[in-house]
Amino acid sequence: MGADLASRRVHEESGTLSDSVARVVVDVTGVDRWFDYLIPDHFAAKAVVGARVRVPLHNRNVPGWIMAVLTVDDVAAEGFDARRLLPLDKVVSVGPDAPIVALIEWAARRYASRRRPFFVTASPPRIVAALGAPQRGLRTIDGVDRESWVDDLLRAPGPAVVQIGPNDDVTSVVVTAAMHGPTLVVAPMVSTARNIAARLRHRGASTALVPDDWARAASGVDVVVGARSAVWTRIDGLASIVVVDEHDDSLQEERTPTWHARDVAIERAQRLGIPCLLVSPVPTIAARVAAGNRHVVLASGVQWPTVRVIDRSRDERWGSSLLSGELIDVLRDPAKRIVCVLNTKGRARLLTCNSCTRIVRCETCDAAMTQPDPDRLACPRCSATRPVVCADCGATALRAVRRGVSRLRDELEAAAGRRVVEVGTVDERVDAAASVFVGTEAVLHRIDDADVVVLLDVDGELLAPRFRAAEATLELVVHAARRVRRASDGVASGEVWLQTHHPDHDLLDGLRRGDLTGFVDAETQRRRALSLPPFGALARISGPGADDAAEQLTGSMYVSVARRDGEVLVRAATYDTLADELAHLARAKNSRWRVAVDPPRV
Ligand SMILES: [Zn+2]
Ligand SMILES: [Zn+2]
Repeated sequence: MGADLASRRVHEESGTLSDSVARVVVDVTGVDRWFDYLIPDHFAAKAVVGARVRVPLHNRNVPGWIMAVLTVDDVAAEGFDARRLLPLDKVVSVGPDAPIVALIEWAARRYASRRRPFFVTASPPRIVAALGAPQRGLRTIDGVDRESWVDDLLRAPGPAVVQIGPNDDVTSVVVTAAMHGPTLVVAPMVSTARNIAARLRHRGASTALVPDDWARAASGVDVVVGARSAVWTRIDGLASIVVVDEHDDSLQEERTPTWHARDVAIERAQRLGIPCLLVSPVPTIAARVAAGNRHVVLASGVQWPTVRVIDRSRDERWGSSLLSGELIDVLRDPAKRIVCVLNTKGRARLLTCNSCTRIVRCETCDAAMTQPDPDRLACPRCSATRPVVCADCGATALRAVRRGVSRLRDELEAAAGRRVVEVGTVDERVDAAASVFVGTEAVLHRIDDADVVVLLDVDGELLAPRFRAAEATLELVVHAARRVRRASDGVASGEVWLQTHHPDHDLLDGLRRGDLTGFVDAETQRRRALSLPPFGALARISGPGADDAAEQLTGSMYVSVARRDGEVLVRAATYDTLADELAHLARAKNSRWRVAVDPPRV
């Protein structure tokens, strides 16, 4: 009775109702479904797919987005009585357009998520009443040569890899793309996006930096630039997408849904039939596999600084200290500005062989093995086990490597005979007079222009349990390479040092020689053999009730389920199969488990 009165009143206030129905995803925490509303005639022009609206729901007025526009007859065909529907209250703002809403549908399935977080990310940060006129007009750009190789890639749709040096400017790649029509540029960091936008503006391209310039981007400009979320920006007439530093893990959202801007960009480009350039000095296996033979190398290895691999297996002191003889020597040279990097989280715990001093590694996946009990070695990455024996020399006496990380700064200072500054993640000021710095990876965002950047324990990164450990190490090396001093001609004069017990590792060997082909082949084979992404699909279920989800999945013949430290790992042959199985999971009333598809830290 109450509801009837309420709806009649709303009907009267809304004037004539059209026979169109808006299917609305509501912006309400915990409500994971859509609701249908009649579209009043005077809203018909604005009530389009993607528009931000306000609708009545349980006697409240709540925000939402139109995910589809249907007719009264469509709704009747689904078995609902359209005459009982309430009208929507208001169209508030322009939102994502139909192709973006279709991309959201894909992503919600792919990442086993609700639609709402994607609608939030794809929406303008402020209300946009209407879109303005397009501001395009790029024909020629001053001062930049078109990259002819890139030009060729842009003539065909789909993903392609553009490999450049770590310190190369991507402007020429972006400009070449922009000559083919409106271009979306996605960069890992806001600061990088801002730099790219400034350079393009300087060369005469009309540019929108999102999210702030969302409305201009949607109206139409030559180039739209932004960080990760920019990949969801509505852009009229989009002709190509450029993903900058495709290897950078900032392109992935860490919280669920764990979408990756590179993978969303590839999907968006494929749906539109446009090219998607994946630019990186160290293209990932995922990018290489997606691009197939569409891969160009723009610069040779000359843009890389010298990478020195410091072999610690011959060093007397290595067992207890992170300071090699070479490091001590350079620390004592007061003219050298030195940055030392040691990540403390997520590193591998290392066991070494007493006779040959090699690190004990998994023969299947290359991770550092642990010794959970006296007779057995176990791999935390792929769960392989073997007896306690060194694979390199057959010895059976192993020991754990213990390092005094806590007194590292003191140790470095004692060796250097000058002050050593520990740089934290907090944005405190870094003493400009100091010349030796130590910290986690974050130190590389704070200190520029070093003569030597030293990764104190590259094995701890490289052999860590996560399956992307080798790629994460490469990313760290690129960060380091961007922090070393450059001469006036732009050529790196500083060096990157990698301290290891394992100098013959294919990645380190490749970095030293400036040719990663061997590493890429070996890593591709490892992933393929273990059916790891991109050769298989992976999800992690965690939180209260995860075991219940695991129980339900265990019966499926399409996925394999493994439990590890209170989490559940689910694998399938393809993301499509994985999505199907995850979509069928039933949730108990108070289960709070979360699904991370393609989880960043596994
Ligand atoms: Zn050995
Ligand atoms: Zn393994």
